[in-house]
Formats: sequence, structure tokens, C-alpha cells
Amino acid sequence: MSESEFPTQKCDICSKMRPLAKHLFELSQYCLYLGGSASYQSGDGSREVFPSTIGSWLELASQLKNVEINAWEFSGSDGFYCGTVADYYDRNSKHYSSYSTDLTRFIFICNALEETYRFVVGRYETPQFNKKFRLDKKLRGVSLKAAYLVNQCSKMYVPDQLVHICSNFEKAFSYYRKVFPASLSGMNNVNSTDLNYGLHLLRNLRNYIAHGVFPLMEHPENIGSSYLADGFLEYLLKSGSRTAALYIQMFLGQFFNGFNSWEYDQVDGACGEEFDRFLDNCSPTYCRSLHFIQDFEFEDWIGYREDGL
Ligand SMILES: [Zn+2]
Repeated sequence: MSESEFPTQKCDICSKMRPLAKHLFELSQYCLYLGGSASYQSGDGSREVFPSTIGSWLELASQLKNVEINAWEFSGSDGFYCGTVADYYDRNSKHYSSYSTDLTRFIFICNALEETYRFVVGRYETPQFNKKFRLDKKLRGVSLKAAYLVNQCSKMYVPDQLVHICSNFEKAFSYYRKVFPASLSGMNNVNSTDLNYGLHLLRNLRNYIAHGVFPLMEHPENIGSSYLADGFLEYLLKSGSRTAALYIQMFLGQFFNGFNSWEYDQVDGACGEEFDRFLDNCSPTYCRSLHFIQDFEFEDWIGYREDGL
């Protein structure tokens, strides 16, 4: 595997990004302060979709530390008298715990992304939108409709460095598909330069996982093979998680309709420098850039930490 498919060093752009967990937490809080809801119509009827639900999945993903797999469980006693077998169980415990953690986090984020589709898809269904874009053939499925909406997105809503971050995911996904050939669905007329290209790839990766065809790779030492470096699948899932969060940011920016939460109103009605600073920063502009390290953060916007509390 070449460096470019699995970079071991961060570039100038990536090194300025917040760690994934912190990025997800900031986005989760943005969803909370956003509030409001949108009607979602499906074959099962109509329901309200809340940004707070999107935020809850993201917050859970941000707080996920470790899914523990214990390969010693049900292993019998061979590991207690044979060092090689004991090493095997130890290695598998570590390897599959790491894999399961990144896989679980990715699934939580996909749940947030799918709820985001349902939050925005009403726009696709409006007669004005259909008329404007002359939709001769109606797309089926909420994810395809949402992907179509991405391509109508103005540059002002595109998260900072989306193209660079997406290209990291695209390279990893392309390498993955070389090793595990699988067809891509719903990609007719989609170009690699389209704004929604990364979202289409994410949708496919999510489907591989949902349909159970995403591989459970053994540790390379167990199978004596090095065609896929240890940690590659985790890297792919992390990279996909980051990209999914950026598309959520883009949708929330594109469909911004003001802050409508009780939490935001509480800050809006309060007096003090910290509240003014919050109101200056909590905006669609922050949503576009919250994956980068910067002074403002929801995590400690009141400044308790600076006060040593
Ligand atoms: Zn980079």
C-alpha cells in the first residue's frame, strides 16, 4: 500500500483539524442550539425530524471511547499454557476492539446523516424546486434526493476544506474497492468533481456495512499477509466518519432557518461578555469551520476551564 492511500503523517491542513471526537462533539452541540424541526413525509406517514436527534447521535459518537472485544472469552484453557496462543488472543482482543470501536462510531454517525437527509429532503419534494431544476425523472430514496440537493448548494455553505478532506476518504475508499471489489450503486451521471461525489461514496460504504459485506479482516500476523495494512479499515472508517460529519454541516448550513432552541434563547436573553461572545460565534459560519482548531468552542464557551474551575 502506498503512503497516499494510508497516510501516516498529517499534512498542513489535516494537522489543523480538531480530533474527530472533538469535531463530532462541537457539531452535536451546534445541532442542539439550532433547534426547530422539519416535517418528513414517507410511506409510513408524516413525522417531525429534529436537529436535536441528529445531535444526540453525534454526541454519542463523540463520547464513544472503546468497544471491548475479549478474544479470551470462551477460548478454553489453551492460552494459559501456550504463550503463542496467548499472544494470539491478546492480539485479536486489541485488533477487533479497535475495529469494532471505529465501526460503531461510523454507524452512529450514519444514523445522524440519515436523519439529516430526512430533515432536508422536504425541499426536494416542493413543486417550486422541481420546477426550478426541471426534474424530469424523480429520484427514489431519501439519500439520493439529499445527494441531489448537495449539488445545488452555494459555495458559501461548503465546509472549509471539504474537497481536501473528501479526497482523503475517496483515496482510501478507492483502495478498499481494489482489495474488496464491490459495485457502486446510484452513481449514474455522478462525476468525481461533483460536490456530492463523497456523499455517494459514503452512501455505498454505509450500504456495504448495513448489508454485512464489509469485511472482518484478521490481523495480518494471523494470516501471514500484508496486502492490507493493520489499521487500514479503521482509517477508512475514521475518514468516512469525518466526511459524513462535513456533509451534515453542509446540509445544516444550506437549510439554516435561524436558531430555534430553548437553549439558544436562554443565552440570547442573558447579560454578560461570555453570552455576547457565544452569540457572535454560534452561527452558520461556525458550522462551516467547526472541524478546525479555533478559540471558540461549545465545550467550554463560558470559560470555566480558564478560570481554573
Ligand atoms: Zn490532509
